[in-house]
Amino acid sequence: MSEFEQKKTGFHELIGRMKSYSEAVGLMYWDLRTGAPKKGVEPRSQAIGLLSTEVFKMSVSEEMETYLTFFEQPGHFDQLDPITLKMIKESRKEFDLSKKIPADRYREYVTLTSQSESAWEEAKHNSDYSLFEPYLDKIIAFNREFIELWGYKDHPYDTLLNLYEPGLTVKKLDEVFGTLRERLVPLVKAVQESSAKPDASFLYQPFNKAGQKEFNRYILEQIGYDFDAGRVDETEHPFATGLNLGDVRITTRYKDNDFTFALFSTIHECGHALYEQNISPELAGTILCQGTSMGIHESQSRFWENMIGRSESFWTRYYSELQKLFPEQLADVSLADFYRAINEAKPSLIRIEADELTYNLHIMIRYELEKEIFSGKVTAKDLPELWNNRYREYLGVVADSDEFGILQDVHWAGGSFGYFPSYALGNMYAAQFEKTMRKDLPEMDQLISEGNFQPIKEWLTERIYRHGKLLTPSELVVGITGEELNPSYLADYLEEKFKSVYKLN
Ligand code: ZN
Repeated sequence: MSEFEQKKTGFHELIGRMKSYSEAVGLMYWDLRTGAPKKGVEPRSQAIGLLSTEVFKMSVSEEMETYLTFFEQPGHFDQLDPITLKMIKESRKEFDLSKKIPADRYREYVTLTSQSESAWEEAKHNSDYSLFEPYLDKIIAFNREFIELWGYKDHPYDTLLNLYEPGLTVKKLDEVFGTLRERLVPLVKAVQESSAKPDASFLYQPFNKAGQKEFNRYILEQIGYDFDAGRVDETEHPFATGLNLGDVRITTRYKDNDFTFALFSTIHECGHALYEQNISPELAGTILCQGTSMGIHESQSRFWENMIGRSESFWTRYYSELQKLFPEQLADVSLADFYRAINEAKPSLIRIEADELTYNLHIMIRYELEKEIFSGKVTAKDLPELWNNRYREYLGVVADSDEFGILQDVHWAGGSFGYFPSYALGNMYAAQFEKTMRKDLPEMDQLISEGNFQPIKEWLTERIYRHGKLLTPSELVVGITGEELNPSYLADYLEEKFKSVYKLN
């Protein structure tokens, strides 16, 4: 074997070892959240910490550095196959990010964020931001320090955005959020002033769990979740986790008085799972066997949840079956009223409970505050007031306590700045993909109303799923739709849908 081939095999073996440790960690997390015994939590957390450290060490090891520098030599780079080439590029990115932070500063930061999460919990419990403020202050300072070490071109916040969405910048986000805000704020206002609001009260009455479970499983089978490559369990907060190509698990939560919570979160997580279950087998066991970014991942969950699951065509096919399962609750409710009820939209304080229309405004508020923090204009002390002002301006609501205002999300306590925009990006990407899908599949509504999702799943697999992390978000979007991220498609989609639901003009 030539040195080149030997090194290539060695690199793939190293990545394979890291992937195996990561799979073990992923499975342990899943177990921790789905029913590990209470007394096992502490030792389990230690074991997770230990294994994660091993993976980290491998990613910055001398062995890794040897492979990276070898393949980055002129002449070696262009001899690599596209998969190994991309793996080298991704590993280099990770290597540099980790190496630029002094080990002792990183350890201090990890300790700080874990203390900070407890402080946040207590502050939220007591609805008292002042208990959390000193921690947030330090976390922001650390992130500023890291940005300086990592470097940035135009805006310091770009560096954090790039951790979750490669290539994303403040310049781009200002532009897309600006357009979106201009079109959504008046739409939200019109919806609020509509005299034809849907009545959704019938959704919030007892629905027995056995019936909910049966219907959820049936819908998962219908839309093509592969039960031979996954399973469904129950957790407080629903999530999806891809352990390997043949094991992509989801969880859900059944609420007695609101069957829509379990149903739509199941479809949402199934969207994440369909992405990971349908990555090309060529990428199995590599670091490319995952979604390409948080935003693209979220586009898939939101596409299935909102554009399929909350569409009229979908319920044309499935409503009578739901009625049969819950005759007491739904026998007297027409399909049209049901459809309007599941699309009820109104400004609210809590992001995770927000509807499809107002959700994006919650994200814009967080984006603007994060941007101002890292422009150096705003400190932790200023945040509650700015938070409330923005909620008043964009959504017309103000929290009367910190718990339902500034303290509602855990993200900042864990140091996740730059993450929030992914949620809104997901909505924008989804609408942009859907527009192109409708051109390729003009019979899309017909297919959905027949419960025939195969052509839709094939379309997504061919263009998005199978590529895993081989293509960047921008390569995917431009390749599929012929243009960069464009917020107009989401605005068009929301205007059309909510003007119809709320009978506007
Ligand atoms: Zn999601």
